[in-house]
Amino acid sequence: MEIEDKVLRLIKSRKKGILQNELWKKAEIDRRKCSRIIDKLEKEGKIIREPETDNGTRTFRIRFLEKKEEKIRDFKLLLVDDLIEPCAGCALECIPEHCMPLTEWVLCLVDEE
Ligand code: SF4
Repeated sequence: MEIEDKVLRLIKSRKKGILQNELWKKAEIDRRKCSRIIDKLEKEGKIIREPETDNGTRTFRIRFLEKKEEKIRDFKLLLVDDLIEPCAGCALECIPEHCMPLTEWVLCLVDEE
């Protein structure tokens, strides 16, 4: 969507973010449409919205969400061959020094290298 890209570009262009009450004017769209686009972008994890007061008026500061701020979920790091790291989701009473599943997984890890 062209207008959505325009809004995102405007947000991205401001290092410290842009106030929502300024954004809709710069994007040349009405407040409601701007609000809907912001909701969508926020749900998609592309921006964050923080409450702020501007000249006594409550608004939001909209910031582009940098990649480094996104949660990185690389589950491949938990895998050795096809064996998942055993502590993930483990409900056993934990004594790591005597844990066979962990020992086996670590041995697979060593073998892989
Ligand atoms: S070390 Fe063993 S017992 Fe402890 S959390 Fe990991 S898999 Fe479970």
